[in-house]
Amino acid sequence: MPDVPPSTLRLGLDEAALAANWRVLDAMSGTARAGAAVKADCYGLRVVRCLPVLRDAGCRDFFVAHWSEVESVLAYIPASQVSVLHGVFDAAQAAYARAVGVRPVIDSLHQARVWSESGGGRCDLMIDSGINRLGIAPSEIADPLVQSLDIQVLMSHLACADEDSAMNARQLAAFRAVIPHVAHREASLANSAGIALGADYHCDLTRPGLALYGGVPRSEFADTIRQVAYPEAALLQVRDVAEGATVGYNAAFTAPAPMRVGVVSLGYADGIMRSWAGAHFVHGDRRLPMLGKLSMDMIVVDLAQAPDLHEGDWVSLPYLLPDAARQTALSQYELLTVLGNRFG
Ligand SMILES: *Cc1c(COP(=O)(O)O)cnc(C)c1O
Repeated sequence: MPDVPPSTLRLGLDEAALAANWRVLDAMSGTARAGAAVKADCYGLRVVRCLPVLRDAGCRDFFVAHWSEVESVLAYIPASQVSVLHGVFDAAQAAYARAVGVRPVIDSLHQARVWSESGGGRCDLMIDSGINRLGIAPSEIADPLVQSLDIQVLMSHLACADEDSAMNARQLAAFRAVIPHVAHREASLANSAGIALGADYHCDLTRPGLALYGGVPRSEFADTIRQVAYPEAALLQVRDVAEGATVGYNAAFTAPAPMRVGVVSLGYADGIMRSWAGAHFVHGDRRLPMLGKLSMDMIVVDLAQAPDLHEGDWVSLPYLLPDAARQTALSQYELLTVLGNRFG
């Protein structure tokens, strides 16, 4: 097959910002060290691009969710540095974990039994301190199945760390009450937002995800966390639209006067959802407002401020996550993970 022509969309990745964000979070974690949540292909920003940067910045504790995510991260780091958050609920998963050498995060008594019966070995243990998602209850820790586990990281997960909620202190207290009663090597509670809750929440290891990739879950991060992802796309076409003509599906935009417009090679199939309607692209400091409905593969923009642009010129979508979240009513997490796989 001949080579595929270059893509008309790309995801700019500021590697220096990614590394700086990890270092900031590691420093904010005080005496604890920061790991990295790298699930969902590094929150949509690609393991192949982010993992080497995080590793070279000094990170050595990595968290994925699925067994299918393990292989891609093992291209960059040793198996002993990887935890799989969804754990092992059947023998096939346990056999895979042991063969590869990564640690399952044991999330229930059932999982503890599966892991032990398959031969056991080093694992992590998730305590449910109140989120009621995954994890064993504090009342279950005396169970011999739990007491016999060989636990590296004893962890729990905060439900409301991005808010000043009384729930944070309640979860901290519930987790602390468990710590003396389960043998383990290290304890871990804080996600990105939890790091800002203070030293009590840091334990031995923190598990930031969102803030590594430029998310700002609490105001404490506003001045220190840098944008990492920069979506860009080329214009497929420029065209003149007559006064009174309409643009796009359902004729949702009508030109109030003759207009010059551009067709951007980006759409909701790439994760630029219809809730972006009314926002703008930029070319340098010139704004190119979106017109009408966003399509699957295209977004039409007003070129009034940039009439010199033509086919093949690149435009950028402002993607500062707190601003983009306000604009679209999507969460900062969603804005990262929806970015589609057509980005180069
Ligand atoms: C995703 C995840 C994290 C990272 O959370 P952020 O809010 O993105 O920092 C940490 N711990 C667990 C258990 C997770 O599932």
